[in-house]
Amino acid sequence: MNRTLSQSIIDAGRWIDSQGWCPATGGNFSARIDQQSALVTASGRHKGQLTPQDLLQVDMQGQPIDSPLKPSAETLLHTRLYQLDPQIGAVLHTHSVASTVLSRLAKGEWFTLEGYEMQKSLAGNHSHAAEIRLALFDNTQDMAALADRLSERWQQQPLAWGFLVRGHGLYAWGQDMAQARRHLEGLEFLFACELEMKRLGAN
Ligand SMILES: [Zn+2]
Repeated sequence: MNRTLSQSIIDAGRWIDSQGWCPATGGNFSARIDQQSALVTASGRHKGQLTPQDLLQVDMQGQPIDSPLKPSAETLLHTRLYQLDPQIGAVLHTHSVASTVLSRLAKGEWFTLEGYEMQKSLAGNHSHAAEIRLALFDNTQDMAALADRLSERWQQQPLAWGFLVRGHGLYAWGQDMAQARRHLEGLEFLFACELEMKRLGAN
């Protein structure tokens, strides 16, 4: 197993847990190994206490390679992202309060943000003035169906930074783990601001 990649997932898990974004074994993380495989978190592990024994290699259909461990249920979404964009090197899926609540309040297929300086934490954004659009999907327990909906949306227009699943959470990605963490942190900051604005009745 690639020790640098596995350590990057373990470190991300500790940080994400310290932020409270993956309570009660929720969420899952992965890092691309190559065009055919990725390293993912096993199902049901606490994300703040991961060890190398909690990670397994999967193929791009989300099936384990030489491992008795069961991959996270949502592994198929990680591997679909790797297939859709060869530039994606890491995916972090979290269940934060802000992403869960805001995705329930938002109507339609897009979640939009504008006017925040921190939009510049998302690659390619250089101004607070641009509108950020994140794809928003209805939640389901059928991961194959959700992965197909992701592919359909991607064919209409490639997605950037991440997407939301309603009442569920966020998938954020980057070309490597460092950029995935930056996108996750930036998006969670923006969600926290939006949630605070709504609490104050400001939008
Ligand atoms: Zn989830």
